This record gives sequence, structure tokens and C-alpha cells, in this order.
Amino acid sequence: MHPSTLPLTACILLLPLSVLAQEHAAHEHGHGELNLALDGQQLLIELHAPAADLVGFEHAPRTTQEQQQQALALQHLQQADRLFVLPAAARCQLQQQQVHDHADAQDEHTAEAAHANDSAHEHEHEEDHQHSDIRAEYSFVCQQPEQLNSLTLTLFSHYPTLQKLSLQAILPGVPDRNELSASQPTVTW
Ligand SMILES: [Zn+2]
Repeated sequence: MHPSTLPLTACILLLPLSVLAQEHAAHEHGHGELNLALDGQQLLIELHAPAADLVGFEHAPRTTQEQQQQALALQHLQQADRLFVLPAAARCQLQQQQVHDHADAQDEHTAEAAHANDSAHEHEHEEDHQHSDIRAEYSFVCQQPEQLNSLTLTLFSHYPTLQKLSLQAILPGVPDRNELSASQPTVTW
């Protein structure tokens, strides 16, 4: 007689379900982030968005056409004046910009993570599950930082699938959390 055998087996069978139910912070297509920080004369703008919205696809380019499309998209992201408008009176000059395409570095890792999250991730990636983000950083030096009291995003007209950017700003007078979109492209402070 082994009366304890059955309950023990039941316990072991129940375990894996709870262990496997992990939260994964998948990115949401159409939704990106914009971070703003002003330190003295230096204004930093960081744009972070799904490659699906900024390039048009998220996998590593497979054809010459995709390579060209990606190269052009990355080139466009280096043109800060195509993306943002700052008050002329602040006399801001772009000093540095960097565009990071995470597709190459994160392909394998991201594909693994996305598989575990198929049901929560509702956009179309039928042939694969690769996701990648693009992060672009822009550093301006403003001669009259006290005149810097608004930022208008002109980027929405170039990226029609990008619906909104969550704004996080380290600037006096700007609410901590804000959302910018094609219909609300300006933040003032
Ligand atoms: Zn994606």
C-alpha cells in the first residue's frame, strides 16, 4: 500500500503550467517612445520604435530591395530636421546622432522570446517571429536654451503606421508622462 503516491503525482503535473506562464514585454507595433532631456545647453532626444513602423519590416533584409529599403530608412532617421522641429529662437544645432538597428544583434534572442508569447502578440508575422526595435539618439546644443519651450514632431507624416509615441521628459514644466501622435504632435512647456 502506498497511499501517498497519487497526490504526489498530481502535484508534480500541476507545476509546469505555472512555471511556464511568464510575462514578456513584447513591443506593440504603431507605438514607440520618445525621451527628452535638457542639461544646460544640451538637449537629448531619443526615439525608440518598432522597426516595422520605421523600416517596414523587422527581419534581417532578405532581398536587395529590402536591403535598400532598410538603408534608406536608416538614412532618413539620421535627418533630424525631418523628424523634429524646435523653436528657431533657441538656436539649437544638431551635434551628434546615432541610429541603432537592433535587428542583427537580437534576431535569435528575440525570435525565442516571441515564440513563448504568440497568443499575446497579435500582429502579423506569419513566416517568422522576429522583432526588432530601432533606437535613434540626437544630441543638440542650444545657444538660447531658455527659449526652448516646445517640440513638434514632423515624423508622423513619414511613418503612417506609427500612431503614437509615449513621451518621457526630463525638462522643467513637462508632465512626466505624455503622448504624442499625428493629431497631437506638439509638446509645449
Ligand atoms: Zn514586432
